[in-house]
Amino acid sequence: MTDFAATRARFDLPEGMIYLDGNSLGPLPKGVAARVTQAITEEWGRMVITGWNRAGWMDLPARVGDRVGRLIGAPPGTVTMGDTLSIKVYQALASALELTPERRVILSDTGNFPSDLYMADGLCRTLGPDYRLKTVAPEDVEAAIDDTIAVLLLTEVDYRTGRKHDMARLIAKAHQKGALVVWDLAHSAGAIPVDVTGANTDFAVGCSYKYLNSGPGGPAFIYIAPRLAEEARPALSGWLGHEAPFAFDLDYRPGRGIERMRVGTPPILQLAALDAALDVWEGVDMQALRARSIALQESFIAKVEASCPGLTLASPRDASQRGSQVSFRHPQGYAIIQALIAQGVVGDFRAPDILRFGFTPLYLTPEDVEQAAQTLARIMATDAWNRPEFHARAKVT
Ligand SMILES: *Cc1c(COP(=O)(O)O)cnc(C)c1O
Repeated sequence: MTDFAATRARFDLPEGMIYLDGNSLGPLPKGVAARVTQAITEEWGRMVITGWNRAGWMDLPARVGDRVGRLIGAPPGTVTMGDTLSIKVYQALASALELTPERRVILSDTGNFPSDLYMADGLCRTLGPDYRLKTVAPEDVEAAIDDTIAVLLLTEVDYRTGRKHDMARLIAKAHQKGALVVWDLAHSAGAIPVDVTGANTDFAVGCSYKYLNSGPGGPAFIYIAPRLAEEARPALSGWLGHEAPFAFDLDYRPGRGIERMRVGTPPILQLAALDAALDVWEGVDMQALRARSIALQESFIAKVEASCPGLTLASPRDASQRGSQVSFRHPQGYAIIQALIAQGVVGDFRAPDILRFGFTPLYLTPEDVEQAAQTLARIMATDAWNRPEFHARAKVT
């Protein structure tokens, strides 16, 4: 039994704010500031360069990677941390393409996060005119997997609608057709139960600053199935992915297993933040988390639909088809979200018309959800969103 009052108490949540945006940037867990301060003052401050050995900085990507691995069903030694998710997408995709040399097509869907598609497109341009990225609607992916596809590149949970792919099923089909798969778990890790081993994925990547609460710019993760890890060749062959970085050889030799997916110097302060943030997962049962997430989402949907006739559900109605977010559509979505934020309920807006709400049971309660729905209903009933300051677009939406 997971004690969600206890997990909530482990977060330093802003007073008076209901935070429904943990799917975009997780809030601050309580132990993080002390751990980062320690890394700065005692490790960097006192040890300076000897911290790489004495404070174990060099092993941090692997050690923290193992902790993330436990949340996604990856065995120890198969996950490493570093860089941003866009870079990890590129790395996984490049290696997967190299492992399917007779094919040239990457298949993805139009619900994928644009950065994943941009990285795929950029990689195709680098590889040459034969390579191409093909995108189809999310519901058409399964039918589009044929024996021309080299790599299937998908994000399990759609960042806009929360729609969830059937990962195991699509992997089975891809493998049957001779394709490899790269799964982006940005909206899955820490949000829903994930089992990269059971689903038999080839590569998986994701970020740590959303549901894993590592803070802005926290490092991404990458996983390679053990059966491929010694074969996968890194396209971004940086010195810390070398078999012996401190031999300073002129020739590149990939490191052991997932170690080869390291690129350059790891972000130690951000890794320290993530390491401390992961403490909140101790004792959390992912099935209990999923059940509570669905209960929170269902109650929010019911209340919003009952009180806000102008909002249309953009997420799948069947909870089993959603990740851990709920989205609604409204032509004035941007202004409505700004009005909500002004009243202490934080969600976000995704163009062109999506109001997006993340459900994170570690720190959200049924009372929060009730209050958020009531605030939204009041804003809609009074047109409180229709004020000039709520229409002015900020740089980040
Ligand atoms: C959040 C997110 C990203 C962001 O990538 P960064 O390089 O970390 O900025 C990429 N892809 C998906 C699917 C995401 O949800």
